[in-house]
Amino acid sequence: MAEAEILHDLIEADRWLERVRQQREHLPEQDEFDRLEESLRNRVATIRETEGAAARVRQAYEEQAEQAERLRQRHRELERALHQSTGSRDLVAIETEVRSVAHQCDEADERGLDLLAQVEDLEAAIQEQRREVQPDLGRRRELRETLTALRWSLGEEAERLATEREQLSDRLPPTLRARYERARVRAGVSGGAFVVDGRCDGCRLALSPLDLDRFRRRQADEVVECPSCGRILVS
Ligand SMILES: [Zn+2]
Repeated sequence: MAEAEILHDLIEADRWLERVRQQREHLPEQDEFDRLEESLRNRVATIRETEGAAARVRQAYEEQAEQAERLRQRHRELERALHQSTGSRDLVAIETEVRSVAHQCDEADERGLDLLAQVEDLEAAIQEQRREVQPDLGRRRELRETLTALRWSLGEEAERLATEREQLSDRLPPTLRARYERARVRAGVSGGAFVVDGRCDGCRLALSPLDLDRFRRRQADEVVECPSCGRILVS
């Protein structure tokens, strides 16, 4: 194979390799995965907040229930005292307290029921929020598997292309190979470019008539570089 043909194939292999690497770096599935991850993080945080609120209200409910129980206990004691009392002055005082404690009991029960209703509402909200994230959790699992598979196959492809380009590069005469590799490191992607419609297709520069003429009249072993990006020009 002539040098020009090897250069031609090497440029194409290097461009393919770059395309595959770019593809691997910028998978659209990754963007979707990132967006999903962000939204799930926020929604899980909301669930945690609701759980926290439910726990606080439940705690308040339990305290309220204890207080109601203490009041009922006090009420029973007062009623016993009322039955056993003899003096009328005691009777009036106890009766007043019985009424007051009974009233407090009712109030405590009402507050307790109110808190219990709040706990139930919050728990229903938690269930609903958990149900809502399920489809996205499934999608995230799916995307993770897809991304792993895509990365793996694109990685394989990149490895194959890298081997191919190494083999092509090895077939170039040492000085030409060195110039190509230097240009590749400097300009990126490939060390050579094609001249298409009078332009270097590596950097899109339109060659001057003089450069174009030099390129067209070059000898078989003569290397012409793009004056802008320094890549070796190939027809
Ligand atoms: Zn160029």
